[in-house]
Amino acid sequence: MPMSDQSTLPSGAPLVLFNSYTREAAPFQPIDPAMVRMYSCGPTVYSYAHLGNLRAYIFTDTLRRVMEWKGYHVTHVINITDVGHLTSDADSGDDKMEAAAKKTGQSIWDIAAYYTDAFKRDIYRLHIKDPSKWSVATDHIADMVDYAEKIAPEHCYQLDTGLYFDVATLPEYGKLAGAAEGPVESRIDPVDGKRHPQDFAIWRASPKDEQRQMEWDSPWGKGAPGWHLECSVMSMKYLGEQFDIHTGGIDHREIHHCNEIAQNQAFTHSHHTGANWWMHNNFLVDRDGKMSKSKGGFSTLQSVIDRGIHPLAYRLFCLSAHYRSELEFSGENVAAALTRLKRLAMSVAALRDRAEGTVWQADDRATLETGLSAQAADFLSRFDSAIADDLMVPRALPLVEEVLGVKKLAPDDRLRVVASMDLVLGLGLMTINRVDLRVAPANATITDAEIAAILDQRKQARANKDYAESDRLRDELAAKGVDVMDGDPLGWDWAVQL
Ligand code: AMP
Ligand code: ZN
Repeated sequence: MPMSDQSTLPSGAPLVLFNSYTREAAPFQPIDPAMVRMYSCGPTVYSYAHLGNLRAYIFTDTLRRVMEWKGYHVTHVINITDVGHLTSDADSGDDKMEAAAKKTGQSIWDIAAYYTDAFKRDIYRLHIKDPSKWSVATDHIADMVDYAEKIAPEHCYQLDTGLYFDVATLPEYGKLAGAAEGPVESRIDPVDGKRHPQDFAIWRASPKDEQRQMEWDSPWGKGAPGWHLECSVMSMKYLGEQFDIHTGGIDHREIHHCNEIAQNQAFTHSHHTGANWWMHNNFLVDRDGKMSKSKGGFSTLQSVIDRGIHPLAYRLFCLSAHYRSELEFSGENVAAALTRLKRLAMSVAALRDRAEGTVWQADDRATLETGLSAQAADFLSRFDSAIADDLMVPRALPLVEEVLGVKKLAPDDRLRVVASMDLVLGLGLMTINRVDLRVAPANATITDAEIAAILDQRKQARANKDYAESDRLRDELAAKGVDVMDGDPLGWDWAVQL
């Protein structure tokens, strides 16, 4: 999408964003008026991203799209963690990458490459825009060693197991986590010799009698960087010592981001946390609690697709909840989002058939919105007020349905409004067709062409008033997992059983 011209910057409702650090919503001001700098903690690529992880990136994508919609240029960095993340966010357990390598017998590099590609495929399927830069942790080991050398003398101490950050050297340590519920300390496993439970590894020394697949030389011996170091180093390298927004899931508010802030303050000898806004999405949960990679089960985007649900239905499902609320995943909830998306796609398609002009095909706000009628423009200002209110997308979404149904508005105007809204929503509403939303489940025993042939026979049987044959054909389809939908208000003649 071309970014808006700077002369249109920033317009409409003032953008207010909740800052986890101050625990208040405040009007957003970028440091550089024309450029928003954002960093999002990226995936640890030892396995497929689960649906909860993907919720985190749908949130950051929405944030970025809102910024762009409001006229800002955005530089967005997402890291790829391919080293250092232990099975606990504190300092215990195995390196997740090493553990995956041991289990599968593959090299860490192969595992990282495979799951990085899988992650990029998922975000593509969810219409999450590529960041301006993917930054890979293992490409920045020398930067991390340099950075650690600068903070070590004043803030770190060495044990046999590595170099540790002494959190008592910073009186403000943990301020961000103060917003979290429950004592953080109790969730940190002890490591022998640490001065305080929250002290964390900057450098993890390789065990003397063991060669790790990933290890590098450093002033503290052979080893690998601690996980928290990479985000401080790469965000500073690409976005500066103090940038606008740092995002992550709410679990990062307690440990990872507190540790990043500590490193940043140590490095800059200041109170600066590194980012003016710290923003966290809440969890995707299922009936048994927080979704996580280690749980397995119905948890990847592919598992949703395999059930016959289009990936964009998952995007819409996420957009239907505010990013700071928990969201409960269930097959029924995502299926409901798919129905909503089908309705939207069909309403837009019906208007496309009636449109006289082509302006609605533009992909920038200025073209789409110039010369709109007052009533149409009013929808966009209501949409703007909702998204500017700490990204209240659930309040913005029904406006799409509402404007599509306003008969007094010309089809072209309705389409232009929806096209502009979709720049934020990223659902592809202007081009998607209902047939694109039909996904064959992985266990399908019948093809679309076979279904169409049986439906034709059934139509014929009904025309001949042979209802016994018509019912038999319906049952035949049902046995193959396909429901016939006579008189469906969406005009959908069949659907896969979910
Ligand atoms: P990871 O790959 O584990 O480093 O996590 C990638 C991102 O997903 C981080 O921002 C996490 O905070 C976030 N995340 C992890 N689990 C969930 C969940 N269940 N719901 C929402 N976000 C999550
Ligand atoms: Zn991070």
